[in-house]
Amino acid sequence: MSVISHWIDGAASPGGGHAQPVHNPATGEVIASLTIGDEADVERAVASAAAAAATWGDLSIARRAATLFRFRELLVAATDELAEVVSREHGKTLADARGEIARGLEVVEFACGVPELLKGDFSEQAATGIDVFSWREPLGVVAGITPFNFPVMVPLWMAPVAIACGNAFILKPSERDPSASLVLARLWREAGLPDGVFTVLQGDRIVVDALLVHPDVAAVSFVGSTPIARHVHATATAAGKRVQALGGAKNHGVVLADADLEDAANHLVAAAYGAAGERCMALSVAVVEESVADELIEILSAKARATRVSVGTDPEADLGPVITAAAKERIEGLITSAEEEGARIVVDGRGHVVEGHEGGFFVGPTLIDGVRPEHTVYREEVFGPVLDVVRVSGLAEAIAVINANPYGNGTAIFTSSGEAARTFRRGVKVGMVGVNVPIPVPVAWHSFGGWKDSLFGESHIYGPEGVRFYTRGKVVTQRWPARTRSTGPQFHFTGDATT
Ligand code: NAD
Repeated sequence: MSVISHWIDGAASPGGGHAQPVHNPATGEVIASLTIGDEADVERAVASAAAAAATWGDLSIARRAATLFRFRELLVAATDELAEVVSREHGKTLADARGEIARGLEVVEFACGVPELLKGDFSEQAATGIDVFSWREPLGVVAGITPFNFPVMVPLWMAPVAIACGNAFILKPSERDPSASLVLARLWREAGLPDGVFTVLQGDRIVVDALLVHPDVAAVSFVGSTPIARHVHATATAAGKRVQALGGAKNHGVVLADADLEDAANHLVAAAYGAAGERCMALSVAVVEESVADELIEILSAKARATRVSVGTDPEADLGPVITAAAKERIEGLITSAEEEGARIVVDGRGHVVEGHEGGFFVGPTLIDGVRPEHTVYREEVFGPVLDVVRVSGLAEAIAVINANPYGNGTAIFTSSGEAARTFRRGVKVGMVGVNVPIPVPVAWHSFGGWKDSLFGESHIYGPEGVRFYTRGKVVTQRWPARTRSTGPQFHFTGDATT
C-alpha cells in the first residue's frame, strides 16, 4: 500500500507521527496510508521554509515570474494525472476534477503577472526636493490549511499568489485526499522552485494548531468549515498573525416567476448535485416564488431523477460518492430530519447503491419541498446532493430569508428582470452574487470571499486582495539635500515635508 508523506526541503519526508488510512469513497476501500505529522515535523518544515524564504523573497521579480510560467506549463501537462488522483481520493467525476484544476490554473496565470501586481507607486517632488515611493514586500513564511472538497483548486487559490509575492508557502492539505498536494509539490520542483519554498505538511489538528502559534509563521490562510475557521482566526490572530479564514456556506438560488424555468432548473440541479453537493458554492436552497413553485418542482424532480450517480471514472457519471461513510450517514440523517419536521421529500437519495460498488459512499440527488428556515436541514450546511425548496411570496421575502441566514458566501437569482436583479444584488448581504449564473466563483483577477459566518478576517482570497494579504507595504520619503541649503533642525510639523 502506498504511503503518503510530507514534502519538506524539496523531497518526500516520512515524519514522526502516526499513520491514518485514506479511502477510495467509490469503493470504501483503504487505498493508502497517510503520515500524520507532529510538532517536530512542524518545526522541521518551518525551519526549512524560513531559510528558503530569505533567498526566494530577495530574488528578482522577473525570475520569480519565470518560475510561475514554467509551473503553469507543467500543471497543464499534468491535468489528466492530477484529475485521476483527485477522483480516486475525493470521488468527484474526472470531468469535474479537470474543472477544478482549470479554475486553479487561472490563479497561477494571474500570479504570472506578478511584476505588474507588485509595481510600486512613486511621487516625484512630493514636497520641495522630496520624492516618496512605496512598494510591497513579502511576509516570509505563510501557511495554508485546506479542505477536502477541492484538493487542487483551493491550494492554488493560495500558493501561486503567496509564492509569486516572494513568500515560502506551507500547505496543510486535508487528511481525506492528501495525494494531490504531493503532485503539486513535484511540479513546483520541476518548475525550478528552490527547495523549501513550497512545503507540504500532512496531518490533523495537531499540525494546524502548531502552525497557528508558530512564531516564524507570519500569516495563515484557511478554507474549511465555519467552526474550524472561527478557531483558526481566533487562535492565529491572538498569536499576532495575519489571518483569512473562509468558512462554510448555505447558498440560496432565487427563482422569480419571470425566469426561464427550464434554464433555471438546469442550473439549480447542476449547482446542487454537481460534485455530490460538496462545494462551498453549491446552491443548496432554491427560494422560489410561490406562483411558479409547483411547475418548477415538476421540472426539478424530473431532472433530479435523470441525474446519474456513479463512480467518478465513469464518463456517464454526473456525480460521484460523498467523501466518507460518516458523511453519507450524516446527510441521510438530515434528509430524515426534514421528513420528521414536516417537509416533503420529492426525490429521495437515501440508500442509493451503485451496482458493482456496494461499499461506496453514495447518496442520490434529493429534492425536498416545503422547507422552512427553522428546519434542521435548512439550518445546517448539508454538504451533500440535497436541494431544499423554500417557497416565498416574492423578491422582498426572498432577500429577507437570505439575509436572516448566518452564512453569506454565494447566492444567485434567476429572472428576466434587470430591475429585480439589481434590487437583489444590492439588497443581499452575501459576498458573491450570480445573476442568471448559478455558482458565481469570481475569475482569478477578482478576489473570492463570503460575508458573515462564511469568512473571518478582513481579506478575501486570491486576486488583488490575495496580493495585499501576502505582502506588506513600505514607504520611503527621500531627500538628497545640497549641503548649502541645510537650515538646522526643525521641531514642528508643517504642511511641507521638507521640514
Ligand atoms: P474542515 O473544517 O473539517 O477541515 C478543513 C481543514 O481544517 C483540514 O485541513 C483539516 O485537517 C483541518 N481541521 C479539521 N479539524 C480541525 C481542528 N479541530 N483544528 C484544527 N484544524 C482542523 O472542512 P472539510 O470538511 O475538509 O471541508 C468542507 C468545509 O469546507 C465545508 O464547510 C465547506 O463549505 C468549506 N469550504 C469553504 C470554502 C469557502 O471558500 N468558503 C471553500 C471550500 C470548502
